[in-house]
Amino acid sequence: MRTAVDQIKEKLSIVEVVSTYVKLEKAGSNLKGKCPFHNEKTPSFFISPERNTYYCFGCGEKGDIFSFVENFEKVDFKGALKILAEKAGVKLNDFNPKAEEERDMLFRVVESATKYFEERLENTEDPKKYLINRGLTSETIKEWRLGYAEEQWNELNNHLQKEGYSISLIEKAGLIKRGEKGSFYDRFRGRIIFPIFDPSGRPVGFTGRIYSDVKPLNESEDLTPAKYLNSPDSILFNKSEIIYGYHKAKNSIRSKGYSLLVEGQMDLLMCHQIGINNAIATSGTALTEGQLQIIKRSSSNLMIAYDGDKAGISASKRAFALAIKLGFEVKIAMMAKDSDPADFIKKDQEGFKKALKESLHVIDFTLQSVLNLNLDERSLLKKINEEVIPLIIATPSPVERSYFISKIAEKIKVPEAALYEQLSITKNEPEVKSTFISDVRKTSERDKRNILERKIAGIYFKSSENLKDVINKSFQRLFEDVPSFSLDSLVSPYEQDREMLIFEAEKEQLEDNENEISLKRYFEDLAKSLKKEILKTELQIITDDLKKAEKDKDQARARELLKQVDQLTKKLSYLKI
Ligand SMILES: [Zn+2]
Repeated sequence: MRTAVDQIKEKLSIVEVVSTYVKLEKAGSNLKGKCPFHNEKTPSFFISPERNTYYCFGCGEKGDIFSFVENFEKVDFKGALKILAEKAGVKLNDFNPKAEEERDMLFRVVESATKYFEERLENTEDPKKYLINRGLTSETIKEWRLGYAEEQWNELNNHLQKEGYSISLIEKAGLIKRGEKGSFYDRFRGRIIFPIFDPSGRPVGFTGRIYSDVKPLNESEDLTPAKYLNSPDSILFNKSEIIYGYHKAKNSIRSKGYSLLVEGQMDLLMCHQIGINNAIATSGTALTEGQLQIIKRSSSNLMIAYDGDKAGISASKRAFALAIKLGFEVKIAMMAKDSDPADFIKKDQEGFKKALKESLHVIDFTLQSVLNLNLDERSLLKKINEEVIPLIIATPSPVERSYFISKIAEKIKVPEAALYEQLSITKNEPEVKSTFISDVRKTSERDKRNILERKIAGIYFKSSENLKDVINKSFQRLFEDVPSFSLDSLVSPYEQDREMLIFEAEKEQLEDNENEISLKRYFEDLAKSLKKEILKTELQIITDDLKKAEKDKDQARARELLKQVDQLTKKLSYLKI
């Protein structure tokens, strides 16, 4: 049986729906107009009649007719369904709210709770004052939908039940807990509430920061309540895969070319408040691989604002190593002593920005902080082994590894060979030969390559099966000297951004959208540019090596490297059209 949603989608095109709200003009095979979701003078809101989707290049809003109406009319899914059903002349009799997926219900109950907490904060003087004193403006408080949970046992629970939500749903959303006697009570009490949003900006969970002393329910509970309390994992909320602020930061991360990772919600809010919109936070948990994979979709350059009051960086070492291993370029910005980013910004905005400018590569940073401890020789070596060597082992590029090893050797006056020995003791890894697709070192190069890959992915996603075959073959031909490099493996990390990348490809190819020959030509140009970037990076790395070999008077190695330089230069000249 066809659902009401299917029937509506069949009857209404995206153009019909959007054009009643927004003036549209033709843009190749798509249409464009001024975005209704953000302020703009020139149109960057695109609509694809073919796929029945929209995408805004300005603010990143995207979706179908339902999400459009939800966002525009500020209604929930059911509200949008009602509006669109009327427009399409579809009867909603068959539509049964009970059959709605649990997921949708959870989204709604969390949204209701968010509204409830917002209202409580609005009407409670002291917690609001506290936030303002910490440096937040009322705009920031509104924008990030901060709230307050009163020191009551059943306020939220009662409120949500009155709104018609079942106890079991409220529990599934992590908003209430079952006490020892079997009765439920509110999880968040006497806390400032920070809603946590999914990448599309819907609240999915909460972090509650203690505001007043919450009385424990019974003896078995901890007597001193935790400073921060998170929602438990649910269908919507997975702590290890969610990043606070990512929904607002993602576009800025892309345009600035890096993300700034801070620890807590307050740090993040203060950053955004002063226009550092690429800030994201982990909400007190250690950075996970899942989170890093999400961040990597926007940029593989990661800067970490590091609390000044921490003695060592041992605690974060694992996360740093993980990021390096996943191909991130990691930099550390040191905060002023004894202050977290939030306090630092409040006291000295310019000082904070300066600290970001003066950030150091994580290995340099760690090395420096170990050297600063002024240890005797034996303790120094031990510390280097514990703190710095794991980061070097995580570094995928052998060239980069040898660069840092010679740097450490020079600083601590130990022969390089001894450090290499240390490396193989700590982790027995076979000598990795410099591969063709080596890791790109410099930010600008990495970005260039990233942009090309995104464009290639966009064309690939857009292509018909037939065209996919054709461009796959031409890609294989171009990269035949790198058998392990396939178009599939290049494209797959971008799967998440499929819709957006198709729109991007279409925007670049406004006139020739439907012309497969021109798409193929465009693809080949991009693939060639990508190969050129890769060769250039390779050349740079080998040239650096060559300089070093010459400095070391290692003639045999220099000769070998010179030969490689020659080969690469030849390959590059073949690529010129
Ligand atoms: Zn927009």
